[in-house]
Amino acid sequence: MGHIGRFGKYGGQYVPETLMGALYELGEEYAKVKDDPRFTRDLAAYQTGYAGRPTPLTFCENVSRELGCRLYLKREDLVHGGSHKLNNTLGQALLAKHMGRKRLIAETGAGQHGVATAIAGAVLGLPVEVYMGEVDTQRQALNVFRMELMGAKVISVKSGTRTLKDAINEALRDWVANVRDTYYLIGSVVGPHPYPLMVRDFQSVIGMETKEQVMKKEGRLPDTIVACVGGGSNAIGIFYPFLHDDVELIGVEAGGKGIESGEHSATLCAGDAGVLHGTLSYLLQDGDGQVLPTHSIAAGLDYPGVGPEHAMLKDSRRVTYTAVNDPDVLEAFSFLSRTEGIIPALESAHAVAYVMKNADQFDSRDIVIINLSGRGDKDVAEVSKMQGGT
Ligand SMILES: *Cc1c(COP(=O)(O)O)cnc(C)c1O
Repeated sequence: MGHIGRFGKYGGQYVPETLMGALYELGEEYAKVKDDPRFTRDLAAYQTGYAGRPTPLTFCENVSRELGCRLYLKREDLVHGGSHKLNNTLGQALLAKHMGRKRLIAETGAGQHGVATAIAGAVLGLPVEVYMGEVDTQRQALNVFRMELMGAKVISVKSGTRTLKDAINEALRDWVANVRDTYYLIGSVVGPHPYPLMVRDFQSVIGMETKEQVMKKEGRLPDTIVACVGGGSNAIGIFYPFLHDDVELIGVEAGGKGIESGEHSATLCAGDAGVLHGTLSYLLQDGDGQVLPTHSIAAGLDYPGVGPEHAMLKDSRRVTYTAVNDPDVLEAFSFLSRTEGIIPALESAHAVAYVMKNADQFDSRDIVIINLSGRGDKDVAEVSKMQGGT
């Protein structure tokens, strides 16, 4: 394997021979389409007219006063569907259409990526089939209903542990068998090349807008940008346009019940190099290379791998990766709701928790931007239950 699709030593294409042709073609097609004005105009039209972009950069007067800095939120919670996920699914679904593909397939764990794919398929008129472990279809029955409501077919996977890992295997099997007419839509900056690069490009709209908006409001770049990291797509989306600027970048992973407890999803903080789902990156694994079980209060962060570009940015120290634990996340969830009237997704509350815990490091003139990757409506029932409500 050459240097194709590498981020430093990470990334690459660790897949069976049967998929190499399909990945090669995808990489070529994407390279062609990416700067084609017919594609970029089409995508921009859906981003503005349908998804609700550009999203606001909201100055939070109350939080700023309480924490002693100038705090802004990049409002990806206001994207149609309630999170940044549609930035990617719209981009890839449109690419599939430009490639003449007739059908989208995806895999989903908690169901959020499946729902975002169903939205993109519905609006672009492409049939969608979503692979989901049987256990997950039961845990996330409402997301199954949402997907079906939008015309997607949910395929309940009954092999293995009946969770995300098995759903990925089934989706890959489908892709190998139907590669001519099927587009496999991956939900984060993970998987083999060209996915990490493509998904990063589609999510970079977050950072490009942020840069323009902060320059307009403050006349200078921010001091710090903070984002939560699951697979890493919302984080790289806001970081990428700032990588060569003098801006501190902080990625916050799910510390779960504490890194020492073993019950967490802090891949970059606690993992090491290994291959998962076709890419070389950091990975939570035991001494024999077996993937470890993960935990997070936020379903969207509950993944044992992470995008290869983040692995490179960790090693080069351009980005600082850290973790916060579930209790701090719950506190941040209530804090932002109470202080600004904005209920964050539990995933995004990780980034809020980091800023709360490190508030003493900021000066009152420091500009801090949190990527608010999603809204918390999906989480209120569960948080209410945890707090003894109904
Ligand atoms: C899925 C999700 C995440 C985690 O995915 P990344 O690829 O790390 O961005 C974070 N926040 C929200 C709201 C999500 O839905």
